[in-house]
Amino acid sequence: MSEFGPNYSSRPVLRIDMAALKYNYNSLAKRVGPKTHVAAAVKADAYGLGAERISKALYGAGCRNFFVATSGEGKDVRAAIGDNASIYVLNGAAPRDLTLFFGSNLKPVINSMTQAHMWMDAIKNVKSPPFSALHIDTGINRLGFPSEEFQKFIKNKSLQEKIQFDLIMSHLACAPDQENPYNKQQLDAFKRAAAALTMKPMSLANSAGIYLGKQYHFQMVRPGIALYGGYATDNPAQEDVKPVVSLMAPVLQIRRLKKGDSLGYNATFTAENDMTVAIVGAGYADGIPVSASSGAGGGVNQATMQNKRVSVIGRVSMDLTALDVTPLKKTPRLGDWAEFFGSNLQDDAASAQTLNYELLIRLSHRARREYR
Ligand SMILES: *Cc1c(COP(=O)(O)O)cnc(C)c1O
Repeated sequence: MSEFGPNYSSRPVLRIDMAALKYNYNSLAKRVGPKTHVAAAVKADAYGLGAERISKALYGAGCRNFFVATSGEGKDVRAAIGDNASIYVLNGAAPRDLTLFFGSNLKPVINSMTQAHMWMDAIKNVKSPPFSALHIDTGINRLGFPSEEFQKFIKNKSLQEKIQFDLIMSHLACAPDQENPYNKQQLDAFKRAAAALTMKPMSLANSAGIYLGKQYHFQMVRPGIALYGGYATDNPAQEDVKPVVSLMAPVLQIRRLKKGDSLGYNATFTAENDMTVAIVGAGYADGIPVSASSGAGGGVNQATMQNKRVSVIGRVSMDLTALDVTPLKKTPRLGDWAEFFGSNLQDDAASAQTLNYELLIRLSHRARREYR
């Protein structure tokens, strides 16, 4: 029999620290200085944290430029923040989405000649259509005007005028690695390309790009992960961000394993000694990756209990994860919380062989969400 407290709940809780979010926004704003706007990447439901709540809070912190991937996301953000901010749609506009662009006043990021012509046609008869952003590819070779296509665009003055862009942007491929010469190459390519246009506000840096220094900031930076407390670069010591997200899993049952007992699906774990195990109520359906299972490779996968790191053992299952609590001073009570991610997001991502981005994106939609 185990004890439990009065607040025992068998549901996981996703804690989202709004004060930390604002701290991170202000920290980045301070770093880039007053001449550079800090926009926010709130695509993919604000990296899984909830686009409405997050956008609203960032708006409250002074953010007036938002980036989403799709017009559907843009519509939701617009509903949350009102009319007094720009929302750029990174994937661009396509015929089926135009109603959303006009209805929610979304600015398409124009990535190619095709998109430029399409947008020009779309806004021909629209009274005060949204502005757009021009995306010049400088080496990531993903979205954006490839250089030959951009040369054609430069020559087409009437097209340039008609699509009414108010931002020139590009995106860095290797920014987390500050020593990588590719960063400077992209910077130079970006400046060269922009010089061929009438000057407009420019934007190059995502979170990691901000740490490359002043010359990468231009008039706008576009952080995502740093706002959400994730480290963006290979040198986290330089980053002043606070953790935003903790997944709290309640202890549902305490088990005593004897030496030789196995645990979990496929019996992948066998106890080498007698041990105490806490079965906690969150699994891969809540965002704890299966690759965080013990023996899955990488490092040791852990959660925090009683201010100590405790190891995941066996295979993470859909709703449950087992933790070795043998080293803890006190045997946990039912309903005690095991914290996943939090200030250990980076290590957790590394030991689960994934990115901190992916850990956030996969966060639970069934956990009770506590924004505080
Ligand atoms: C997602 C994205 C960002 C934000 O990236 P982070 O690494 O999360 O800061 C910025 N710009 C573009 C074009 C993006 O796709």
